[in-house]
Amino acid sequence: MPEQFDVVVVGGGPAGTACARLCAEQGLSVCLIEEHTSAGIPVQCAGLLSLAAFEGCRVSRSSIIGTVRGARIVSSQGPVLSFDADVPKAHVVDRAVLDREMLWNAARAGAEVRMKTAFFHREGHRIVTRGVNGKEEISFRVLVAADGARSRIARLMGMPPPAFVLGGLQADISCPLEGGMVEIHPDASPDFFGWAIPIGPRRARVGLAGLRDVQSRFLSFIRNFSDGGHEACVHLVSGAIPVGPRARTYGNRTLFVGDAAGMAKPTSGGGVYTAVRAAGHAAKVIGDAISRNDYGDRVLSRYEKAWREDFGRELSLGLKLFLVRQKMDAGDIAAILTRLDDPRVIADIVALGDMDRPGRIVRRLVTRPELLPLVGTIFRSLIYKKY
Ligand SMILES: Cc1cc2nc3c(=O)[nH]c(=O)nc-3n(C[C@H](O)[C@H](O)[C@H](O)COP(=O)(O)OP(=O)(O)OC[C@H]3O[C@@H](n4cnc5c(N)ncnc54)[C@H](O)[C@@H]3O)c2cc1C
Repeated sequence: MPEQFDVVVVGGGPAGTACARLCAEQGLSVCLIEEHTSAGIPVQCAGLLSLAAFEGCRVSRSSIIGTVRGARIVSSQGPVLSFDADVPKAHVVDRAVLDREMLWNAARAGAEVRMKTAFFHREGHRIVTRGVNGKEEISFRVLVAADGARSRIARLMGMPPPAFVLGGLQADISCPLEGGMVEIHPDASPDFFGWAIPIGPRRARVGLAGLRDVQSRFLSFIRNFSDGGHEACVHLVSGAIPVGPRARTYGNRTLFVGDAAGMAKPTSGGGVYTAVRAAGHAAKVIGDAISRNDYGDRVLSRYEKAWREDFGRELSLGLKLFLVRQKMDAGDIAAILTRLDDPRVIADIVALGDMDRPGRIVRRLVTRPELLPLVGTIFRSLIYKKY
């Protein structure tokens, strides 16, 4: 007889651990499986989390390695747009430490955690796993697919794919960078952007993501960061970032959460905020489904309704901006940065800018009369340039 749990969660990242903890806190029996020996390893993240995203993880401050007040957007053609809020806007975290603490919290709430146990396939209402204990079968009332960007569960269930999958490469290197300020380099990766994040004295996390040529772009980008003497790279990260969520994120007793649902933000590639928000919606719907003993699509569809109401519009707007970005070249970026470099605009960005919810600042900027020529430039680039 396979073991029976109310909820089986596949994946020990932020989406899976948050969902497992919230389900266990409701008194449900929860089993979380993770294919690696330790949560958060290998790290596939720059670790830049808004204050809201960090709070949503419900952890101590032990994973924080830096704090960010603002950003510098650097064009290869010269213009630089800087905004500094003078107050903390985001944390830089060590994802291995953060993920491990989230996993501890899920276990402390009562979830049974099985490390080095991989989801292999599904047979009806049970999954077959392979790992330290060999082949096992675990039955569930509800399955949570939190198995990341390359979700095997989604593939085997034939779920619609995310709109795009970006490749990301990043290294922690010795390099001096202004403390508290993140650098964004749009031209380092013409279909997305490159970043440089200070992570300590003379240390930076430098990386980029893109749809193509990621390795060659990365190798040439990283050459720009040098401490003028001894250079060291102590940590290399590669990973996938799914943007444009799956058209459907539930079905057949299963909820897809976080990267497995394609929930990373198309404007930044960040996915921890949406992962923990979606985990909260999933846990509520699961609690409801179990109390009614009803696991049909009508009940589970409430999960998709809830997350779309919460941040679906932001992801849709983000995807539109991502598509606009595909048509922009270095000249367009330089023109935009020059236009935005106005104290009133910068004050708006500082006051309204929110890396998790860019809608508010975008709506504000497009209605500013002095930025109308900029809106015109963007429309022209949309009309005349091929995607
Ligand atoms: C280069 C790069 C930089 C990034 N930078 C940021 C950033 O600065 N800020 C931010 O918010 N986001 C960032 N992201 C995105 C962020 O890492 C993800 O959105 C986030 O980790 C999603 O959480 P998740 O729990 O959905 O998935 P994951 O964190 O990927 O967790 C999925 C888990 O499932 C496990 N798993 C997979 N398959 C199986 C299986 N078959 N059986 C058992 N377990 C399985 C995996 O081992 C993994 O532990 C970045 C991504 C990349 C690639």
